[in-house]
Amino acid sequence: MKTNDKIDAARIDLLLGELRLSGVRLIWATLAALAEQEMVERSRRRFERNLAEARLPPGKTLDTFDFDAVPMISKAQVKALAGGDAWLENGANLLCFGPPGGGKSHLAAALGFALIENGWRVLFARTTDLVQKLQIARRDLVLEAAIAKLDKYHLLILDDLAYVSKDQAETSVLFELISARYERRSLLITANQPFGEWGRIFPDQAMTLAAIDRLVHHATIFELNVDSYRRKTAVEKTRSAGRPPARATIKSSS
Ligand code: ADP
Ligand code: MG
Repeated sequence: MKTNDKIDAARIDLLLGELRLSGVRLIWATLAALAEQEMVERSRRRFERNLAEARLPPGKTLDTFDFDAVPMISKAQVKALAGGDAWLENGANLLCFGPPGGGKSHLAAALGFALIENGWRVLFARTTDLVQKLQIARRDLVLEAAIAKLDKYHLLILDDLAYVSKDQAETSVLFELISARYERRSLLITANQPFGEWGRIFPDQAMTLAAIDRLVHHATIFELNVDSYRRKTAVEKTRSAGRPPARATIKSSS
């Protein structure tokens, strides 16, 4: 489409020249430039709007994510996911598991940011907060509408799923959310525990299994089984103190 636009623009320019309509030619060129500027401005505003509504934790981008710390995660695969098309169009999911401090939330937020840059709409939520909101909606008999409202987000990031508490589990709003988005809209879930402990998150075992079944049916699973990045960097800082700077920056290959 872009090339066609360009060809047409060049042709019009040529025609106006041939017709010796230099005044019109000048105005037309100015208009074209203005329209282009308006397009750029609009997409910038859309990005700002989508970024604000996404409520991402600040500063967590793919550029600041150290992939060397998670050798089991392919940077190329993450970059491909950041494009969005292949999975968000099909409502596929991404599940990130691993112990605290391993970079799950950072990776989730960074992917969210990259997706917004690519024009997608994203919402980042602590799972317990969102469950609480949905519980209120259920109480007010507007749960269905509340879940439907989340449809505008191509990706809903549920951070720390396993932190949903027993009393929150009893209302099963999380199950309703998962069912409603199944094969339509994507979820990115982070959790310390892969499935084993999920019995606490849903009211009964049948529902737990049904939820897991839907989540994994079309899913990419990342297991960030690494030591806490926070702890590791703290230890490295202590170790490198007093060493010559050149040595301190050498990374161990293990
Ligand atoms: P988790 O959600 O798995 O508990 P976080 O994503 O919150 O872990 O990571 C803890 C802290 O360490 C955050 O400040 C995060 O930015 C940082 N961090 C974790 N992993 C990495 C990484 N691979 N590269 C850069 N920073 C990281
Ligand atoms: Mg986290």
